[in-house]
Amino acid sequence: MRDATTPPVLILLGPPGAGKGTQARMLEEKFGLVQLSTGDLLRAAVAAGTDAGKAAKAVMEAGDLVSDDIVIAILGDRLGDADCAQGVILDGFPRTTVQAEALDDLLGNSGQKINAAISLEVEDTAMVARISGRFTCAGCGEGYHDSFKPPQVADTCDKCQGQDMTRRADDNAETVASRLEAYHAQTAPLITYYDARDVLETVDAMGAIDEIAANLATIVRGAHN
Ligand code: AMP
Repeated sequence: MRDATTPPVLILLGPPGAGKGTQARMLEEKFGLVQLSTGDLLRAAVAAGTDAGKAAKAVMEAGDLVSDDIVIAILGDRLGDADCAQGVILDGFPRTTVQAEALDDLLGNSGQKINAAISLEVEDTAMVARISGRFTCAGCGEGYHDSFKPPQVADTCDKCQGQDMTRRADDNAETVASRLEAYHAQTAPLITYYDARDVLETVDAMGAIDEIAANLATIVRGAHN
């Protein structure tokens, strides 16, 4: 599926709560790829108080999409870092057709192309419960869920034993509704965009985390060859 001389570029598509972040982290560990989450990059910009962060803060709190210019600039910067040369999994980018076209240009400039755009297929009705129960270890970024993936010892990270768990400000019922709306209006059309380019793969993402990870791993192995 890909030119063996270029590092793989994989995209995870899916609505908020589909498990993009969880699965991207697992793929990162398994295949030595770098997870690039524009949500994480934007949250870091908000926390650092950069101009981009200041512009993005209220938009993110409302569950709307941050402007293409800001997101493309942030992603383009990160994509140029040396570690990305080993291959990347894009989590939460692109989210609009303008972003998808910008990504094609960015990759074209470095002689790379997309190996697979994997759509995580889920039912909207389950996403609110998935999102409202999730939290993250502030120390290492490992994600957890009250019902689906609790830590082995309450309030203690399985990975780094940290005890500082955080919940995202935009993981509440009203914001989730806006985020799902933004997904269907602006991001879901990318499924057709990548299908037309013959790189689309779909995975049923309603089941167990490990089962979904195994299906993704099969696709990624195929994309490596
Ligand atoms: P996420 O962590 O991917 O759920 O993203 C959290 C929020 O960051 C989204 O609801 C958007 O407000 C913003 N965001 C993240 N990635 C993008 C993107 N590619 N385009 C526009 N906004 C984004």
